[in-house]
Amino acid sequence: MELRLYDTFTREKRPFAPLDPARVRMYVCGPTVYDFAHIGNARPIIVFDVLFRLLRQWAKEKGWGDVVYIRNITDVDDKINARAAEEYPGLPLNEAIRTVTEKTEKQFHEDVDALGALRPTLEPRATEHIAEMKTLIERLVAQGCAYAAQEHVLFSVASMPDYGKLARRTLDEMMAGARVEVAPYKRDPMDFVLWKPSKPGEPAWPSPSGIKAPGRPGWHIECSAMSWKHLGETFDIHGGGIDLVFPHHENEIAQSRCAFHTRIMANFWMHNGFLQVEGEKMSKSLGNFFTIRDVLADWPAEAVRLAMLQTHYRQPINWTEAGLREAQRTLDHWYQLTAEVGPGMLCADVVDALSDDLNTPKALAAFHELRAEAAKGTQAAAACLKASARLMGLLQHSAAEWAAWRPRSLAIDEGKVEALIAARNAARQAKNFKEADRIRAELDSMGIELEDHKDRPTTWKVKR
Ligand SMILES: [Zn+2]
Repeated sequence: MELRLYDTFTREKRPFAPLDPARVRMYVCGPTVYDFAHIGNARPIIVFDVLFRLLRQWAKEKGWGDVVYIRNITDVDDKINARAAEEYPGLPLNEAIRTVTEKTEKQFHEDVDALGALRPTLEPRATEHIAEMKTLIERLVAQGCAYAAQEHVLFSVASMPDYGKLARRTLDEMMAGARVEVAPYKRDPMDFVLWKPSKPGEPAWPSPSGIKAPGRPGWHIECSAMSWKHLGETFDIHGGGIDLVFPHHENEIAQSRCAFHTRIMANFWMHNGFLQVEGEKMSKSLGNFFTIRDVLADWPAEAVRLAMLQTHYRQPINWTEAGLREAQRTLDHWYQLTAEVGPGMLCADVVDALSDDLNTPKALAAFHELRAEAAKGTQAAAACLKASARLMGLLQHSAAEWAAWRPRSLAIDEGKVEALIAARNAARQAKNFKEADRIRAELDSMGIELEDHKDRPTTWKVKR
């Protein structure tokens, strides 16, 4: 058995082996911290979390060293500046920016922890790597891959003959995408910003390349700098959403390869597909825009994870309530079946499927067989199911914890539920069935389902 991954750069599935078996190195582009992460952002978090878990499993099997997973935090960006000025008009801009980025980073961590994602090995912040970015910029200028003009530093795309190779775009296609009005400091419309001057009050650092005015880095250079610092000049896997292929990853490759004279930046480029909601593009104007937080208020996190993994990561995903409901039902059953067993052996079919370019739908199909066996009372199958599900970040709770989950929107006051049940019992004893029915209806509207028993007191559960 071998691990095979699809590489966007070569457009092929290839066997994976780490460049340096002592350290498996993966970099994934992380969030720009100015607002709640949306459900589309949850996809790379979950996909690369499953890959991280799988790589650790392979590292254990093969005797590779640690799996180092880096996910950066972009904390310098025009969107952050705009949000800070809007939200905290009374504060000096830099203080407002710090408030926004710290708050958003905290929210992001709460969300990804809630999704059951393992924390990456390191989450470097852009503003803590300005020195590395400047070193890279100076190097690119010295090598003729970049130039300073009107207080900007730009990467010269003409210096990189195979620019566009990752995206497989022709020069004409890329030109069409470049802004119609070309900034006067660009030699070529395709050239992109490595450094730019800051407006008064904005975050600013002393500029590289002899530029007098203080400035700040462009977005692309931060990932080249942080992956270099923490993973080296080349590394194993670079991941992100498909929307990052061009221009972000194309530009990262150009910067890193020119700076280090390497043939590659990463050995594998992996990209997850788009997410649509109920068959439509998610957008605030369509009213189908959901943050991770919104979704986790109504659904247990593992249902979100399972629903996400039903689609292969490279395919576009159609995010539906029906899919979530089905995932929740599946998990209800899995939790029931595995309540009494500890995790056993990993199911070979599940590991095989995951090792085939993270084929999660195929892995989940293998679960159905395990479930059928476990339902017949085969303990070993139940134990395999539990271990294999955990490899995908599922079945991480106890059956009791899972059963006790309540939607946050349905804030249940347990004391009130018990009091209403007592009142209903009293009404029934007094043969006031109209009142008893009224109370049952009231509980029903609170999302509570009652179960009357012949031999013991009434029990209740939250309707799903
Ligand atoms: Zn990046």
